[in-house]
Amino acid sequence: MSDALAEFRAAGAILEGHFRLTSGLHSDTYLQCALVLADPARAARVLTPLADAWHSQGITVVAGPAVGGIVIAYEMARLLSVRAIYSERENGPMRLRRGFSVSPRDVVLLVEDVITTGGSLLEIRALLEASGARAAGVATLVDRMEKPWAGLDLPFRAALKLTPPTYAPEACPLCQRGLPLLTPGSRHLQGPP
Ligand SMILES: [Zn+2]
Repeated sequence: MSDALAEFRAAGAILEGHFRLTSGLHSDTYLQCALVLADPARAARVLTPLADAWHSQGITVVAGPAVGGIVIAYEMARLLSVRAIYSERENGPMRLRRGFSVSPRDVVLLVEDVITTGGSLLEIRALLEASGARAAGVATLVDRMEKPWAGLDLPFRAALKLTPPTYAPEACPLCQRGLPLLTPGSRHLQGPP
C-alpha cells in the first residue's frame, strides 16, 4: 500500500456508497480529499513528494479550480515558495476573482484534488494562458482517470492513483438499483457545465 493510500485510509477519506462526482459521473467510491487536507501535517506529508518533482522548474504560481483546488494550491505553493491562486465559476465560466491575476512572466503549476475527466483543469489552463501565462504541468492529489489523459501535452503527476469504476448517470447500475445518490463534493456550488 502506498504511503498516500495509507494516509487516505487513516483519514477515513475513502467512502463507499452511491455518489455523484464533481464531473457529473456516478461511482460507488468517493475520495473525500477534504478529510486528508483537514490535518495540515497529513496534507504536507502527502503533498511534499508531489511538490518535490516541481522544484527547479521555474514555477511562479500554483493555480487550482475552486473549491477542490484551493487547499491543494495553497499547500503546493507553500512547499514551492510561490504564490497560490484559484479560479471560481461565475454564472458558468471560470474566472479569476479577488484580485488574482497572472502575466506573461508567470509559469503555472495547475493543481486539483481529484481528476476524473480533467475538464476543470483544461478550463483554468485556457483562462490563464489567455493572460499570457505558461502552463508548465499538472499535479493532482488523486488521479482517478480510467484511461491516460489523451492529448495532455504537459507533465502530469499524482500523489495517488485510484480508479474505482465511474458511470454515466444514464448507465449507472447503482441508479438502476434505486440506491440514494449522494453529492459530497462541491458540484452544487458550480454553475451550469
Ligand atoms: Zn448512479
